[in-house]
Amino acid sequence: MKFSKFCPMCGKENEVLYGDEKKLCAECYPRKHDLLDVPDEVKITLCSVCGRMKSHGEWIEEYSMRDQLLEAFSEFNEENVEMRLQFWEDDNEVTRVKVHASRDRIEDSYESRIEFNKTQCKDCARFENGFYKVKLQLRGEKDLEPVSNAIVDRAAEATNDSRKDFLSNVEKHDHGFDFYLSTERINKKILSVLRERFDPEIQRSYELIGEERGEEVYRNVVSVRL
Ligand SMILES: [Zn+2]
Ligand SMILES: [Zn+2]
Repeated sequence: MKFSKFCPMCGKENEVLYGDEKKLCAECYPRKHDLLDVPDEVKITLCSVCGRMKSHGEWIEEYSMRDQLLEAFSEFNEENVEMRLQFWEDDNEVTRVKVHASRDRIEDSYESRIEFNKTQCKDCARFENGFYKVKLQLRGEKDLEPVSNAIVDRAAEATNDSRKDFLSNVEKHDHGFDFYLSTERINKKILSVLRERFDPEIQRSYELIGEERGEEVYRNVVSVRL
């Protein structure tokens, strides 16, 4: 024998009702409850230079609008709720997202408008300000042009791997070249190419550049002689 259950809202007979105290049918449930808590407006922060997206304080490699929306809305997802996104641009060129949510036989949808904020990420800002951590000085009697080219090529590859690693500037002098590098990591990658190909003499020194929170801050100077 099967017990009949009646939804108190629509009065229809159902096999399954949903909810804790006042149980409703799958159609009435979403009129009283939300499956997901999705805000009317969602802000997405992008870097205007490299196009990366800021998520939970990190700059991440999500470049397509679809992936950016998936990332931004993932934080509204709930356990056991299936979420599907639909997005489009309206007449005023505002991006809108419709979130389709379902749990068992309950279905609901929510709409949000997206606000894209453009700013500059820390790495792009550092690049623009000519930031550097390591000064690599290339010196020698030989023709240094091919060595310089090898350094520039290796630096570009390193930047492809990580935006934090970049060649901020190159200066050519009578006695050689100076390369301004953003991190010790990119410096190491370059030095290993130079060791493999040119057998250089490498010396390190440190320049005191100031104080930060009571600690002395140094910049590394690497002298490469061929
Ligand atoms: Zn009902
Ligand atoms: Zn950037």
